[in-house]
Amino acid sequence: MRNNTGFICDERYFWHDTGNGALFLPPGGWIEADEHGESPKSKRRIKNLLERSGFIDELTGIRPRAATQEEIEFVHRSSYVEKVKQLSDTLGGDAGELALVGRGSYEIALLSAGGVMTGVDAVMEGEVDNVYALTRPPGHHAETEQGMGFCLFNNVAVAARYAQKKYGLKRILILDWDVHHGNGTENVFYDDPDILFISLHQDGNFPPDRGAREDIGEDAGRGYNINIPLPAGTGNAGYRYALEKAVAPIADQFKPELILVSAGQDASVFDPLAQMMVTAQGFGEMGTIVKDIAERHCKGRLVACHEGGYSPAYVPFCTLRIIEALSGVQSKVIEDPYYNAIKGLPTEVLTKEQKEAVDQVIAITH
Ligand SMILES: [Zn+2]
Repeated sequence: MRNNTGFICDERYFWHDTGNGALFLPPGGWIEADEHGESPKSKRRIKNLLERSGFIDELTGIRPRAATQEEIEFVHRSSYVEKVKQLSDTLGGDAGELALVGRGSYEIALLSAGGVMTGVDAVMEGEVDNVYALTRPPGHHAETEQGMGFCLFNNVAVAARYAQKKYGLKRILILDWDVHHGNGTENVFYDDPDILFISLHQDGNFPPDRGAREDIGEDAGRGYNINIPLPAGTGNAGYRYALEKAVAPIADQFKPELILVSAGQDASVFDPLAQMMVTAQGFGEMGTIVKDIAERHCKGRLVACHEGGYSPAYVPFCTLRIIEALSGVQSKVIEDPYYNAIKGLPTEVLTKEQKEAVDQVIAITH
């Protein structure tokens, strides 16, 4: 019997070198050199937990192929792609705003975008129902002409364009639950009615001036860009409310033929780059809700693509719960090891502010 869920990963993803830093800043001035926030650590620990728990045996391992330069240029300007390549071939540097390129990062970024495309092929051809692609570097901040926020090429956007071209899809839903706004993906599809882009993010986080509720798309794409900015402190209850009351009804109207998820687990309660309160269990519930949408409309076809998540200790448990939800199989990791530290927090409380934030989006979309 085949496993329902594919898992895409490659050792090379962990070799993309972001160098020294502290959180998101490079060392220098008063910043002492430490490990950069977007290091391989949390991602490698996801793979390690899947292996250590034996859960990897419940998944279908799929090897990613690299995207070609031509495929990257479905989304990005060739001058920008050349710039990344040139930095990667020499000593590295910043390909935009906080978008670090190390030596050899270009080829790894091609493999990262290619990983999501490989996932699209796997679900479109029925090899598996859904896929979790543990790709790196991340993609959702990368814009057409510049990298941003640790992102070089916009993996999900490239994969969506690929799915349109190869399979002739007319309706693709991209759900971005990374805690930061998916500005790059929004930019690419802002006038495109064939792609419904929905971003859930912490209001005022990164980029600080993006992700407003009023940004609903333009021209033919008007109404196909949905931003759901949530107040700091939102936990499981707020995300559940947003997904059930805003995202699911909008998705049910749109009737996607394929769902791509920008799965950043940086809304977690332990994340150093945001101030949200989602627990591993909460991420599992989010996985279940989006899987149900995929089953209602597109035979379960869903590709989740890893984005951010900066708590090396906790992100593996959040991601494990998502993959459990996608596969419908429970791992041997029954309890959240960090439960005692979070059980007293109000993650299951939907505050008035959180409810209003979602209700205002619902009002706009009706
Ligand atoms: Zn993020």
